[in-house]
Amino acid sequence: MDPRDKVFLITGASSGIGAATARAASAAGAKVVLAARRADRLEALAAELPHAVAVRTDVTDPAQVQAAVDTAVEAFGRLDVLVNNAGQGLHAPLEDVDVDDFRAVLELNVVAPLVALQAVLPVMRAQGAGAVVDVSSGTSRMVLPGAGAYAATKSALNMLSAVARRELAGDGVVVSTVYPFITDTEFHRVLRAGRLQQRPGGPAPHTAEHVAEAILDLVRSGEPEKVLVPEGFAR
Ligand code: NDP
Repeated sequence: MDPRDKVFLITGASSGIGAATARAASAAGAKVVLAARRADRLEALAAELPHAVAVRTDVTDPAQVQAAVDTAVEAFGRLDVLVNNAGQGLHAPLEDVDVDDFRAVLELNVVAPLVALQAVLPVMRAQGAGAVVDVSSGTSRMVLPGAGAYAATKSALNMLSAVARRELAGDGVVVSTVYPFITDTEFHRVLRAGRLQQRPGGPAPHTAEHVAEAILDLVRSGEPEKVLVPEGFAR
């Protein structure tokens, strides 16, 4: 799908990969609906971009997700691309993982993308076309001590994404998955603060812009996935 004049709904657009994706989509001629909780950041970004709307959204609340979809349609008359990007890490040895934190991250990283998919489908089906990019993690392709709880949530997302691709193949809705490697965002800075370092001598983190371009490439190509994990880092 050519992003030009298409309408993107991007979750987690207030920082990092989501904000970079909004900028990249906008630069490619798209209209963007920016969804996240930090409304001040969304509004600042929307003010920078032509044809951009900020919608304060907690993606773990289905009513707020529906409101974001409704806003996209009201503002721009259609909704072509969903980028399920909002997400959070949870890094600790499994025996130390707080199960309430785990439930919360499952809700954000797994349940919320499914809710968002369900919310956009009626619009995309009616249009006869749509694209969804789920932002997973290279971590879900590795067995990495200290990252098991987070990787489990992204592994669940991978399966939802792959099955949705098959289920929607006849509807013109193309679902793809991107697997970013360590990316220099607030998320990664938290990891470093928590001492979960990249391997010594390993490659430098990606930029958010690099991942954003991969997301745009998936929208353009409709390919099933883009794995941004360097050689030697797979499981
Ligand atoms: P950031 O921390 O910069 O971005 C996370 C985004 O998620 C923020 O915009 C945040 O916005 C949003 N978010 C969190 N909770 C909610 C919520 N309940 N409702 C709505 N939005 C929410 O990190 P990244 O850009 O790195 O992360 C983006 C995605 O990339 C995540 O899914 C992450 O798992 C994935 N990823 C990141 C990697 C990395 O190394 N950085 C590597 C692999 C994958 P707000 O707080 O304003 O709501």
